[in-house]
Amino acid sequence: MEKTTKKRIQKTIIKEHETNPWNNAIIQLEKAATSISLDKNVLNILKHPVRVLITSFPVRMDDGRIEVFKGFRVQHNMARGPCKGGIRFAPDVDLDEVKALAAWMTWKTAVVNIPYGGAKGGVVCDPTLLSENEKKHLTRRYTYSIINMIGPNQDIPAPDMNTNPEIMAIMMDTYSMIRGYTQLSVVTGKPVELGGSLGRTEATGRGVFITMEEALRQQNLRCCDGIKIAIQGFGNVGSNFANIAYQRGGRIIAVTDLYGGVYDPDGINIPHLLEYTSKSQYHSIKGYSDANELEKHEIFALPVDVLAPCATQNQINVSNADDISAKLIVEGANGPTTPKADEILVEKGIEVIPDILANAGGVTVSYFEWVQGLQSFFWNETQVNNALKEILVRSFHEVNQVKTKYNVDTLRSAAMCLALKRVAHAINLRGIFP
Ligand code: NAD
Repeated sequence: MEKTTKKRIQKTIIKEHETNPWNNAIIQLEKAATSISLDKNVLNILKHPVRVLITSFPVRMDDGRIEVFKGFRVQHNMARGPCKGGIRFAPDVDLDEVKALAAWMTWKTAVVNIPYGGAKGGVVCDPTLLSENEKKHLTRRYTYSIINMIGPNQDIPAPDMNTNPEIMAIMMDTYSMIRGYTQLSVVTGKPVELGGSLGRTEATGRGVFITMEEALRQQNLRCCDGIKIAIQGFGNVGSNFANIAYQRGGRIIAVTDLYGGVYDPDGINIPHLLEYTSKSQYHSIKGYSDANELEKHEIFALPVDVLAPCATQNQINVSNADDISAKLIVEGANGPTTPKADEILVEKGIEVIPDILANAGGVTVSYFEWVQGLQSFFWNETQVNNALKEILVRSFHEVNQVKTKYNVDTLRSAAMCLALKRVAHAINLRGIFP
């Protein structure tokens, strides 16, 4: 074999290893376990998801064809309460990705100290190729396939990439039809008219903003006058974060999504951009003419105060971590930074607010929605936003205290230590059945 071909294959193997989310979740887990001297038996439990379902199911398409789709639901751990985690529709979603996302949910719910375990689901599909009708059929059949795993006391799904309140309404309806009564609290992130919580749609982006504000305050930077921000991803998380930061005086100088990027050193008019995306194909920013065009990969090297990856996993990796010059990275997405990139960022002195803290606003307001549904008693938006802020600010400071206590190098390790302590304590209190 030629030397260059050999090198290319080696590079591909290294890249695949670096970007396997489950490998990365295990690396993060082992690192934190060492820092807190976690019992090896407990560590072993947490290295394995409790339940994994792989399902194939038929869906009748608009033209009469029947297509078979593959779906997953993974429950990582339920020591602290029912499992909780979103459903992702994506062409490349696979079991390792869903396992990692489920584990990150276990840690996230523990970091913010809400009584849940971690789960996640996914369906392999390209939503841009499906009609609204096909998406509904797919959602119903997927819900049916996982119906014995979910329930308000068991496992409560929510939206994630390419799923939304309308999809959650269909999931709730399918579950309710089969059980024979209306069960609001089987999913969260529902439309407000159907038992959804006020403030849930914005909650993840709002949480990203709240944790950024706390971190900037620690660095003696005032939020947000003149703070320069670059955002990757302009879906639920990225666009809501952008809008809140913009309203608070932040200067969003660049935004990218799957289809392209826009850049304006003086700051992009975010309400304008939102208006544009509400009408554009795939709700994309591509073609927005009131800012300069930006190549997608250029977002990482821009001279900004804050870089917010709000798209998907593995976006900050060995190939671009060195180029980053932001002072702070706030992870709206799950798993956007690989462990190897984390090491580079530590060397460069760039602080990262980890996903399991920064984007925990979504699951926190999902928790409020679940409680409201169970009690059939609904809160106003101020109550929701105040309770969210209280939890996230407290969690931010608890993570910082743990960083000092265990003398760990990153906020990610600190958040992992805090979560592991809580999950391990629950496992020990419950004991091993039988
Ligand atoms: P979404 O589907 O609403 O939006 C995703 C955005 O990212 C879109 O703008 C898409 O074009 C863009 N994108 C996808 N891949 C990209 C790529 N390779 N490069 C550039 N842009 C890309 O999804 P969302 O709900 O906003 O979720 C985004 C991330 O946040 C995911 O990692 C998700 O797991 C995480 N998250 C979401 C929530 C929530 O409440 N929705 C909560 C916590 C974490």
